[in-house]
Amino acid sequence: MNIDFNKNGDGLVPAIIQDASTKNVLMLGYMNEEAFLKTSETKKVTFFSRTKNRLWTKGEESGNFLHLVAIKNDCDNDTLLISVNPEGPTCHKGTDTCWAEENEPNFGFLSQLEGIIAKRKRMSEVEPELREDKSSYVVSLFDEGINKIAQKVGEEAVETVIEAKDDNEELFLNESADLLFHYLILLKAKGYSLKDVVKVLEERH
Ligand code: AMP
Ligand code: ZN
Ligand code: ZN
Ligand code: ZN
Repeated sequence: MNIDFNKNGDGLVPAIIQDASTKNVLMLGYMNEEAFLKTSETKKVTFFSRTKNRLWTKGEESGNFLHLVAIKNDCDNDTLLISVNPEGPTCHKGTDTCWAEENEPNFGFLSQLEGIIAKRKRMSEVEPELREDKSSYVVSLFDEGINKIAQKVGEEAVETVIEAKDDNEELFLNESADLLFHYLILLKAKGYSLKDVVKVLEERH
C-alpha cells in the first residue's frame, strides 16, 4: 500500500477506526510507518501516540484491543480507514465509541422509515380534531391499536407465504415489503424498534 506519511511533515497519517459489523466510527488515531507495519503484522491496531510519543497498541493496558479486519487508503493516500472487530469498549471512558451518542445503530432507509412511523404514532396520540393531516394510513393503524396491527402483520405474513410458493417474483417482493413495513409498525406500537430485535439476534450469535 502506498501511504503518503510525509504529507504533514511529521510522518503521521490519521487513521479512522470503524467497526467492521456496525460501521460505527469508533475512534481516530495517528499512525507512522512503524505503527502501520506493526498493525499489519500483529493484526492488532497500533498507533503512534502523540502524547506518549511512542507506539501505542490500543488495548495494551485495558485489554480492549482492536482486531484488524481491513485497511483502506483514501483517494489521495493520506488518510486510512481501518475496519476492526473491537474487543470491549473502544473509548477509554468506557463507551463503545469516542462519539457514543452520535453512533446509534443505523439501518439506512429502514431507520428513516422507523422515524416516519414514530412521527405517525405521535400524531395518533393527538386528538383527531386537532390533527393537521387526517388521512394517514399508519396513523389510522395506531388508532386501531396493537391487536389490529398484529393482525395485519399476520395477514401480510400469510400473503408472503402464498407468494413464496408461486413464481411471481414481483408479488413476492411486494408482499415481503408489506410484511416488513407492518412489522416495523408493530414493533413501534409495542414500544420497540429494529435495534432491540437486532440486539437479541446479536446476543444469540
Ligand atoms: P488502552 O490502550 O485501551 O489500554 O488505554 C491506554 C490509555 O490510552 C488510556 O488510559 C488513555 O489514556 C488512552 N486511550 C485509550 N483509548 C483511547 C481512545 N479511544 N482515545 C483516546 N485515548 C485513548
Ligand atoms: Zn486524503
Ligand atoms: Zn474516547
Ligand atoms: Zn400484502
